[in-house]
Amino acid sequence: MILRNCSLLSELVEGYTHTSADILIEGGEIKGIYPCGELKTENNCEMDMNNQYVLPGLFDMHVHLTLSAEDTLIDSNKTPIQLALDGYKFALDSLKRGFTTLRDVGASNRAVIGIRDSINNNKLIGPNIFASGRIITPTESGNEFFKGMYLEVDKPDDMVGAVRNVIKDGADFIKLMGTGAIMNPGGVPGQTICFDEEYKAIVKAAEFKNTYVAVHCHGTEAIKSAIKAGCRTIEHASIMDDEAIEMLENSETYIVPTLSAVTTLLRDLPLSSKHMKAKAEAILNKTLEGVTKAYKKRLKIGFGTDQGVTGLYHGDNGKEFELRQQLTNMDNIDLIKQATINSAEIMGVDERLGSIKVGKIADLISVEGNPLKDISVLRNGVTNVIKTGVLVK
Ligand SMILES: [Zn+2]
Repeated sequence: MILRNCSLLSELVEGYTHTSADILIEGGEIKGIYPCGELKTENNCEMDMNNQYVLPGLFDMHVHLTLSAEDTLIDSNKTPIQLALDGYKFALDSLKRGFTTLRDVGASNRAVIGIRDSINNNKLIGPNIFASGRIITPTESGNEFFKGMYLEVDKPDDMVGAVRNVIKDGADFIKLMGTGAIMNPGGVPGQTICFDEEYKAIVKAAEFKNTYVAVHCHGTEAIKSAIKAGCRTIEHASIMDDEAIEMLENSETYIVPTLSAVTTLLRDLPLSSKHMKAKAEAILNKTLEGVTKAYKKRLKIGFGTDQGVTGLYHGDNGKEFELRQQLTNMDNIDLIKQATINSAEIMGVDERLGSIKVGKIADLISVEGNPLKDISVLRNGVTNVIKTGVLVK
């Protein structure tokens, strides 16, 4: 396939300097990037992009494909097959809006692991999926609200066993609860629930399997413990003091804020989710303060949303761009990098994904309008989506 007359953002293109190009795709990969008109190949399917911006496919590093955005109690009573069927539909909803890579940070019944495998084995067309499977958590009231999503364990030795179990299940990485949660009816978001020794044991066990730990943390003390233990990503990162931000600057730990979640949960919710509203209110201002500071320090920030949580419908992942811009004043180019190359680097998949480069997987999108002038085009203006060289929208 040849994409003719693509406008490019130089920050997201490697090994090619012009701002427009024809892109040759073969075997699912980017085979060549040429000045417009120079490429004279026949027998190829050609698409004229009419100078639309062509960007690498977007990443959402924090989704839950077994949650439907509706009443959690209904999700909790679905059969495993229904969870997988619905989850696949939700993955497509995001793909069609430009999100070609999803990291699922907690699901029940190995449903997302199954979806991932069917996509990887070419049985289904879908986004790249990296899945944690069940979430490892210390014993915490309210966990039963999400039937089957948590693996409850305490003490370092048993935590190690839990890591081995979820990896045996097929997990790509480990998701851990480091503090109470907003979604969870029993938890207090800022409260630490995991000991330093538990963090260390989990990180070590994950490293043995060449993978990493993504930890749910709202509170600043838990964030510091997670950084010290060497967790790769802090999910939500709601309350960060200056010391926590300084520790992040000097570590290989990255934050994945989810402003979509904390703002959406302030709205009217189904009865089963009413407990979430007050908890979201309590951390909103601190979250915006911390994320703004982290951005000003030029920390590498991942792109995540919490899509699937009550009120966050799969496919509307791009709302996070607008929220980050409106609430924390981020520049458009930094936002675009967060959802592409930065997230790819944080996940350790930047060899093959995250930018437009010869040899990388041809996950590409085109957008109507200039994303440097109007970030909302990444939410509502995605016109074409190419996944591993196949036009899926
Ligand atoms: Zn989440």
